[in-house]
Amino acid sequence: MLKIINPANGLLIKTIETDTSESLAHKFNQLKNGKKDWQNVPITDRIAILTKWKELLIHHKQELASILTQEMGKPIKQALAEIEAIANITTEWFCKNTQRYLMDEIVHDTNEWYEKIVYEPKGVICHISAWNYPYSVGANVIVPGLLAGNAIMYKPSEYTTLTGLKIQELFYQAGVPQSAFQIAIGAQPVGEALLSLPFDGYYFTGSSKTGKFIYEKVANKLVTCELEMGGKDPVYICEDIKNIDEVVAVTADGAFYNTGQSCCSVERIYVHEKIYDDYVRRFVQEVKRYKMGDPTKDDTYLGPLSRQQQLTVLEKQVKDAVDKGATVLCGGGIATVQHQPQIHAGGYFFEPTVLVNVTQNMSVMREESFGPIVGIAKVATDTEACSLMADTEYGLTAAVFSDNQTRALKILQQLEVGTIYHNCCERVKPWVPWSGRKQSGIGHVLSSIGIRALTKPKAYQFKK
Ligand code: NAD
Repeated sequence: MLKIINPANGLLIKTIETDTSESLAHKFNQLKNGKKDWQNVPITDRIAILTKWKELLIHHKQELASILTQEMGKPIKQALAEIEAIANITTEWFCKNTQRYLMDEIVHDTNEWYEKIVYEPKGVICHISAWNYPYSVGANVIVPGLLAGNAIMYKPSEYTTLTGLKIQELFYQAGVPQSAFQIAIGAQPVGEALLSLPFDGYYFTGSSKTGKFIYEKVANKLVTCELEMGGKDPVYICEDIKNIDEVVAVTADGAFYNTGQSCCSVERIYVHEKIYDDYVRRFVQEVKRYKMGDPTKDDTYLGPLSRQQQLTVLEKQVKDAVDKGATVLCGGGIATVQHQPQIHAGGYFFEPTVLVNVTQNMSVMREESFGPIVGIAKVATDTEACSLMADTEYGLTAAVFSDNQTRALKILQQLEVGTIYHNCCERVKPWVPWSGRKQSGIGHVLSSIGIRALTKPKAYQFKK
């Protein structure tokens, strides 16, 4: 049985029965037996069904957002923003563009030869997912996956099970047959059970540790396994920025949005020494303005952490940093009701925390924090900034804020990351690929590349 807990107060929402090996095998067989039927549905009809799903998301957005807020603590406005973006931007883009990227590509047509590439669906795909953006990380694979003609087994995170069940309900309501979409309910044991079923491909979004475990486990099947994993994303603020207040607002939001629980959250900030003091002072002012508390309230910006155990991880990072010489400029610990009367006693709240005098040997500058905490360090040159930004085992995103695009690009192009940002950060769009390098992952979602990754391209070589 799975206990669904509200992280804002630690109270039980409900208990749900989890899948067993037998029920998973049954669901898998439904998908295996039904995949041809779904493939045979014309793509225009599949687009119409996914368009209907998009409309249902918008129609039910208040109810969906309040479920998400209740089970993972995402502030209600941010929950609504996630659902609206997935419906109106991501799903809309996939519905408009998937067909053209999956058209047969005639690559050679002469008197003698006719050769083309045909994008066949992979078959039955298993998608094991994270909780922090369940609509995004779910839809990034499921929507183009279904459009491309695959059947999908989706395992939502155990922290967003109720959201997963709603996603499934609305897919069925939109017309996706049960033989094309199923969900697996449960935590790690259910995830592991999925690894022994003969899927035609795996997608995983979650921590690097779990991703590498999954990669090894499924290696023997010789099917593709795409991994979207953690990050320790750096930002460098050059001294030539025009509007320091705007850069402070954007970078603080990049660090603290979703209570710092984004894969591409700003986790390390390097600031040129010429503007360092000014930037830090304004940054702390901005963070102190953030309202933490009841995530169901419209004006709440910081909610609880979704997982109680992360409170200890953050406490340890702060202690390690302070022991090694860092200074806490705001926050620094678990939020107590005594200091923050607006929060509930049983909730998993951590104070928004800004650390300075940080160095690369501190865990807060090396290990993913995944919470409302950020370290800011002073640098003297672009070369120093570039080398500190590169000093990580992760490779998801990196950002430079500068009035000079050539200068920013010179730094960013040297970094081994999947996404580079100039004058922006913590941003994902469906028309560009999303991918990690190094310990942040392998493979792609989103864009034409992510759509085609959901297929098995077949070469046709015909002699005339
Ligand atoms: P997690 O690794 O704990 O769990 C992810 C999923 O894997 C869950 O569904 C979980 O039940 C399942 N799982 C856990 N152990 C398993 C096992 N042994 N075998 C099979 N399945 C297993 O990660 P999380 O806490 O859910 O997510 C947070 C992490 O996800 C962060 O590191 C974050 O950076 C990362 N993330 C990355 C992206 C990206 O696009 N790169 C997006 C969102 C989140």
